[in-house]
Amino acid sequence: MIAHPGSEVRVLIRSRPTANFAQELIEYLPDGQTVSVHQRKDSRKGVVNNQLSSWSFRLDGVLHDVSQEEVYGRVGRGVVLGALEGYNGTVMCFGQTGAGKTYTMTGATESYKQRGIIPRALQEVFHEVEQRSDHAFSVHLSFLEIYNETLVDLLASVRGCPGVGPGGMAVVEEAGGGVSVRGLSLHPVHSEEAALNLLFEGEMNRIIGAHALNKNSSRSHCILTVHIESRSHTLSDAKYVTSKLNLVDLAGSERLGKTGSEGQVLKEAMYINKSLSFLEQAILALADRRRDHVPFRQTKLTHALKDSLGGNCNTVLVANIYGEASQIEETLSTLRFASRMKCVQMDPVVNEHTDPVLQVRKLEKEIQLLKQELSIHNTLIVSIRQIQEVFSQFKQAMQQQEQKVKAQLCQNYTLVEKAQSTAGSTAAKSRGSQGTVGVVEGHGFGVGLAVPSERHIRLLSPGRTKAIKTKELASQGRKEAVEGRSPGPGKQVESVNPVQRDREGREHDPQSQEPQGPQEPLRTDSPPPKAEAFEDFKAERGSEINRILKENKVVLLERRARLRELTEGVNTAKREIDSTSTALHQWRDKRQSQGQFVSAEGVPVLDEAELSLALRLRELKTQYRQQYEELRGTKAEVSYCQHLVDQCRTRLLTEFESWYNESFLLPEEVQAMLRSGGPIRPGLVPVYKALALEEDEQEHFERLRYELLADSPSAISFYNAQNRTVQRRNYSKAMSQTPVQKTTPRGSGRTKLPAILSVI
Ligand code: ADP
Ligand code: MG
Repeated sequence: MIAHPGSEVRVLIRSRPTANFAQELIEYLPDGQTVSVHQRKDSRKGVVNNQLSSWSFRLDGVLHDVSQEEVYGRVGRGVVLGALEGYNGTVMCFGQTGAGKTYTMTGATESYKQRGIIPRALQEVFHEVEQRSDHAFSVHLSFLEIYNETLVDLLASVRGCPGVGPGGMAVVEEAGGGVSVRGLSLHPVHSEEAALNLLFEGEMNRIIGAHALNKNSSRSHCILTVHIESRSHTLSDAKYVTSKLNLVDLAGSERLGKTGSEGQVLKEAMYINKSLSFLEQAILALADRRRDHVPFRQTKLTHALKDSLGGNCNTVLVANIYGEASQIEETLSTLRFASRMKCVQMDPVVNEHTDPVLQVRKLEKEIQLLKQELSIHNTLIVSIRQIQEVFSQFKQAMQQQEQKVKAQLCQNYTLVEKAQSTAGSTAAKSRGSQGTVGVVEGHGFGVGLAVPSERHIRLLSPGRTKAIKTKELASQGRKEAVEGRSPGPGKQVESVNPVQRDREGREHDPQSQEPQGPQEPLRTDSPPPKAEAFEDFKAERGSEINRILKENKVVLLERRARLRELTEGVNTAKREIDSTSTALHQWRDKRQSQGQFVSAEGVPVLDEAELSLALRLRELKTQYRQQYEELRGTKAEVSYCQHLVDQCRTRLLTEFESWYNESFLLPEEVQAMLRSGGPIRPGLVPVYKALALEEDEQEHFERLRYELLADSPSAISFYNAQNRTVQRRNYSKAMSQTPVQKTTPRGSGRTKLPAILSVI
């Protein structure tokens, strides 16, 4: 199990099974954690009093008659799993020679079932590596022996091993607080089998060494280290974790005095004692939180285990005891060491690292992305600046153009901005004939508009306060040029002032035509509102038809008024006839009831009152007939006048529509055609020409109308229906721009207006 921060080093006791177990001296309490040792005073060291001393040691567990598998489960598994997560871990066996340290760590190499913690740990490591497919693991093994403060690489014999360098082997401190053994071979392993091969190789070397250097392999410390590194497949950053799993089989801790060692054995014992003593000191220093210095460097053992004892790693100590009565002092010594060891606090920390190469690559990638973002950002800023610049240039150009147009207009006309004085425009209108006065309607010269909207400019001609659009003038002149005629004296074109007329004249003269300027009809992007344009049209181009329409309306109103009078007269006459008739009948009834009134000759005669009533009735009837006849005639006149008004209105609207389309909506090519005076595409005839063509038909129907009316006034309905159909057809033709075949050469292009029917 993995230790939690702040927990203590776990210490367990394992006793070597023996037939001579000192039951009276060693007592395992039922809690499975406590060992009590009862010691009889040694008679050789003083007064023999057979007194018993008892010590109780409460540890993390007592492994008595426990299988190797259970020992691994309770001692090794947690540390191994912690190492796979990135925590350093140490499993260390401590105790006198023959207590079962090697059995616990390595086990009986000849029996699989009795294999110890190391082979089981290696098995678990590779099992987990296979299971954790989301990580990439790399596992290396090293096997270090410390004998008389000499570092020995137990895997130096492995083929391909580079061998120890000139400086020899040494424990060196690493940046970050870790330690490593310089010159110790690190062997990559990819399978449990490969790892076990290295273990057995090292154990073999240890045994051989025991023969050559020391009589007993228990005289050296052995540290098998599993170096684990793991990188996450899913988190593809430069971070990775490393860990060291130290599996330590310490040299026997038996006291020198007991064996009476001499020579080599004495020397060995001194080193062992020294290292174990320093190990104890280091551990005590670790246990004392007030001490900030731990004497790891005093011996090779503690130095090599510096980063694997307590502190930031998981540490488990197995105190091996040999439970025979003769070994009770060593047992007691081991248990004391174990209980001291238990005080050491652990604070395991994952060894997380950052791969500098990958980190650099990652940072380079980030820099690249940021550069791209920055370039996009800069491009956007540049774009916005460009747009702003374009707008400002455009605005400037517009303002210049506005000034230019204004100046040119001022040359030709006296322009007054309405914004300056609305009253001024009224005054100008009232001045009327005092001269040519320009009035700018609406909002004056628009801000930011290079060309002032033409429809807002009204030119007042001398003697006539009439608004005329410059465009209309240009259009009018153009059309007349196309039609090969000039405005006649009777035409309502007096509104064009001499300058304007002169300019129009030049417009059709190729020699005098300027490449640009106000002579060219100005085409605004947005056509003027129709209502406004219609008013303009009525005032100028359609003034004739509008005048006729107005006159017809006047006649119509007059006839209607007459019709109302007649109707009232007829109705009054009818009422009088009825009342007179009633009175006459009443009189006659009365008289008949009184008897027949006869003359002296016996001839029935009328009395005076009856005669009067009869005469009155006759008179009223005559009057009624006359009035009724006139009423009928007037009704017909009203109907006909109504028709004329409708016809004029239709004509006015039709002409307005064609004029509006021609002036504002026709495509450029048609405009060009109008300017050149002929069709651009075969069969394509300008709208007004199409309309004019139909005017021949119009004349025909008008003649027909007169004839019909002369012969039979009742034919007017038929005429009306027929005429309206023709008008609608012509109008829709004109609006849809349907090419009209020029069937007859145009004689006169003059707009033929319907004659005013004299109704009086
Ligand atoms: P140490 O390494 O501490 O000197 P060993 O591991 O060599 O002691 O053990 C000494 C002997 O005792 C070996 O023959 C070993 O097989 C045996 N032995 C030790 N502990 C046990 C045990 N728990 N069960 C069975 N035999 C053991
Ligand atoms: Mg041993």
